[in-house]
Amino acid sequence: MEGKAVIFSAPSGAGKTTIVRHLLEQNLNLEFSISACSRPKRKGEENGKDYYFLTVDEFKKRIAEDAFLEWEEVYTDNFYGTLKSEVQRVWDSGRHLIFDVDVVGGLNLKKFFGDHALAIFVEPPSVEVLEQRLRSRDTETEESVARRIGKAHEEMQVKEQFDYVLLNDDLSKACNMAFEKVNSFLQK
Ligand code: ADP
Ligand code: 5GP
Repeated sequence: MEGKAVIFSAPSGAGKTTIVRHLLEQNLNLEFSISACSRPKRKGEENGKDYYFLTVDEFKKRIAEDAFLEWEEVYTDNFYGTLKSEVQRVWDSGRHLIFDVDVVGGLNLKKFFGDHALAIFVEPPSVEVLEQRLRSRDTETEESVARRIGKAHEEMQVKEQFDYVLLNDDLSKACNMAFEKVNSFLQK
């Protein structure tokens, strides 16, 4: 094992991507682990930057080849996963990994990386606020908001299994706290 791994997980809409982007702009020697996924690309997203966008068939082929460290069908036909080659790519660059993954994926990665990982659960102030954030992001259909909110209730149940629960109410406070936690973990 080489570098360290920082894992951010949360129900969709809690703010993990926003916080992860903030951390990537700090001087922490972090590099984003680009996941593979089979959902359609959103406006503004780029292949090889936000995700490696694959078709469902391509994704299944990579599963059969044992190319993933972890993968999940987060929503029907929406597969997401961490490629083994991606972890190697980041460590070869001499940087630490930062992940933005769902809750189950986060716990699987924590198990895999053990003491080399810090796993943070981003907690929204409430499920109502989570729903407002998903709507305000303007990326979801009614159906996908409902799916994401439905899953959020279960996801909130496992927050205690993470190393730290970060409340994301005031965004700048959450970003500062995230910086402190990650910085002290990377210094150890
Ligand atoms: P996730 O990656 O967990 O799905 P995002 O980072 O995409 O969540 O955040 C969902 C939406 O909520 C985005 O539009 C983001 O700008 C907004 N947001 C994030 N944190 C806060 C906050 N503390 N207060 C208000 N809006 C927020
Ligand atoms: P979105 O469609 O909003 O980009 O992501 C949906 C969910 O999939 C989010 O909770 C996101 O963190 C999660 N996700 C993204 N990449 C991965 C991954 O590699 N593995 C797992 N398990 N989940 C992921």
